[in-house]
Amino acid sequence: DVALGERSYDIVIGPGLLGSLSQHIETVSPTARIAIITDETVYELHGQAIEQALAGRQTHIIIRPAGEAQKSLANLEDILDSLFRAGFDRSDLLIAFGGGVIGDLAGFAASIYKRGMPFIQVPTTLLSQVDSSVGGKTAINNQFGKNLIGAFYQPQKVVTDTDLLKTLPARQLKAGYAEVLKYGLLGDPAFFDALEAGLGQDILDLDEAALTKAIHVSCATKAKIVAQDEREGGVRALLNLGHTFGHALELEAGYDGDLLHGEAVSVGMEMAFRFAVEQGLCPVADADRVSAHLAATDMPRISDMTHLLHDPAALLKHMGQDKKNESGHLTLILPRKIGETFIEKRADREAVLRFLTQLRDEA
Ligand code: NAD
Ligand code: ZN
Repeated sequence: DVALGERSYDIVIGPGLLGSLSQHIETVSPTARIAIITDETVYELHGQAIEQALAGRQTHIIIRPAGEAQKSLANLEDILDSLFRAGFDRSDLLIAFGGGVIGDLAGFAASIYKRGMPFIQVPTTLLSQVDSSVGGKTAINNQFGKNLIGAFYQPQKVVTDTDLLKTLPARQLKAGYAEVLKYGLLGDPAFFDALEAGLGQDILDLDEAALTKAIHVSCATKAKIVAQDEREGGVRALLNLGHTFGHALELEAGYDGDLLHGEAVSVGMEMAFRFAVEQGLCPVADADRVSAHLAATDMPRISDMTHLLHDPAALLKHMGQDKKNESGHLTLILPRKIGETFIEKRADREAVLRFLTQLRDEA
């Protein structure tokens, strides 16, 4: 349950839920026409299943190519045009059926179509199931950066079918696992203990019970934080653990670089723990545990990113371009230990530069 007053909604999680999608929509909108927005890859793998699940309802499907480049103003306009052409109105329903790209794009389209039409998230990647489908951030990119145009717009429901992950490439699964791990590291030490004790590997092995549990814990943590701070004025920033360092790596790798967001976050969290140790904020034993778990689950590490570390000043500059920063100060989410983090609104740039230089020299 995401508790946001009249904008509250449920997240339902489990294997095989796509088959009963019609039932889940019933409580949201029993008669509405339905626009499904998806990408080519997801459509090829699961298009028939969603069409079957919604047989008997009036549906219109919009299929876009896969990839981050879809989050553009031009593609947004195409989607809106398609909705107008098909005659949708505000009482109809939009379904975002795909990963975070489709969720962000379709969610934003829903937020502005005739000043807002209801939408449901049916996330199909681990990253979107534990993170982007919940919380109401929708956005597209432009030449000035990622997610710079968008809206806070909550879905009416999130229907998460863990079976959909069976077709997800292993690399994408791992990228999503970084965000699962994030919830343990930022505020739930018992969850990290469980991940370390085998739940993490079980998730990567697609064990059904492990997935349902981990997605539930992740969404519950995110829901709790979002309920306290829907528009990221405060505590919601904790969800960015590992993201400022990670963002710098993503920019250094290039817009179309071969680095997935979750991979950057995996490395970024290791960097945040290492930096906190350097600053005397966090015990080295905790940072070592994080590194050991990343190694044990074969997740991306600092040592895999040496090709992106050669210019510490450029990385620091990239970190400075993060949306979270206020009036020129560098904001960082830093750990005091595993499961306890805080928002440092005035991180010491010189110290960060020394740290990045040290990482480069060790590489
Ligand atoms: P994505 O949507 O690009 O999906 C990754 C790839 O997997 C795509 O090629 C897609 O076609 C494919 N795919 C999706 N589901 C599949 C399945 N079940 N089987 C096989 N292939 C499948 O990427 P993502 O990692 O899901 O999301 C990344 C996006 O999410 C970024 O644009 C990021 O900015 C955004 N994001 C948003 C939020 C938020 O709060 N709104 C949070 C985190 C990330
Ligand atoms: Zn993220």
